[in-house]
Amino acid sequence: MSQTVFKSGIDLSPESKAIWKAAQAAVWLVGAVILACLLFFPPVGLILFWNILIPVAPALFVLAVGVWRNVCPLATTNLLPRHFGFSQKKKLSVTQLGKLNLIGVVALFALVPLRHAIFNNNGPATGLLIITMSMIGVAMGFVYEWKSAWCSGLCPIHPVEKLYGGNVLGSIPNAHCVECQNCVVPCPDSTPNIHPISSKKTFYHQIAGLMVVGGLPGFIWGWFHVPDETTVASLSNYFSVYELPLIGFVVSSIIYIISSMMVPQKYEQKLVSIFAASGVSCYYWYRLPSLIGYGKFADDGLLYNLSAVVPAWVIPIMNVATTAFFFYFLVIRKSNNKSWVVRPPFAVKAA
Ligand code: SF4
Repeated sequence: MSQTVFKSGIDLSPESKAIWKAAQAAVWLVGAVILACLLFFPPVGLILFWNILIPVAPALFVLAVGVWRNVCPLATTNLLPRHFGFSQKKKLSVTQLGKLNLIGVVALFALVPLRHAIFNNNGPATGLLIITMSMIGVAMGFVYEWKSAWCSGLCPIHPVEKLYGGNVLGSIPNAHCVECQNCVVPCPDSTPNIHPISSKKTFYHQIAGLMVVGGLPGFIWGWFHVPDETTVASLSNYFSVYELPLIGFVVSSIIYIISSMMVPQKYEQKLVSIFAASGVSCYYWYRLPSLIGYGKFADDGLLYNLSAVVPAWVIPIMNVATTAFFFYFLVIRKSNNKSWVVRPPFAVKAA
């Protein structure tokens, strides 16, 4: 007969637990309101989701991705079966985890260009995408242990968290896992300075890591050179939104592969951080100006037009400042040996 005993570890105090539960509930409600707006008041929902929530996310991943991991409404929903004791708590094999990671990366690169063709201008379609992802995540939560299947497996946002969250400000408490069941090894939440190629256990892990580290910066560059399609007339319109992101993906992947062959193994993490900084800097280089009316394509991605108030010369200064910040934060700043969240106490099966 076996019983669960607890090793020493960092547990949440009742106060901390209450605060994080309240934060999860509040952010879940905000997410529900945004989802309702996407479905029933699309003009409002599209602004809230694509022009406020999503532009904040990359910077949050860089600074403190653990905060997002603790309060992400999709994670809160997907982990309900586990919190309420309805999960079968199965463990995924290393190969299964590698396959899920790879599918998540492919889903990221397949879905993001469709923003131009569908999602950026279609609230109900964006809402249905969120509902579909949530249903898949909940279904997985009924079967698999804690965050293994969705949050650290199939979620298409997870590869981006792993790329940008390589040197966070500090570790915060883990507000989901009550005790650590070692459901993911290495656990992205609990491993200091994790990055997408920290684990090369299987071919699937290696390809997933290579695609996101090498491909994402060029993919982002290409994505920002494609306008939103307001009327998708033919199938070729759908394919056209993939062309430039794909070209960017291939070019930056080749640069990464050549660089990684030339750079000694001990500098691998530094190389990853350079590509991470390039990706997030490229994102804000284009995204911040478009939010305030200085976008490449008229009103694409516009939050509020400030072009009559903010002079044009401010834009290059802003771009250089954000790029300098991300290169300092991710590349120049010393690795601080911090994980996204503090691992909770281990639960181990004892005979
Ligand atoms: S902290 Fe432990 S239980 Fe939670 S996701 Fe990581 S490995 Fe799984």
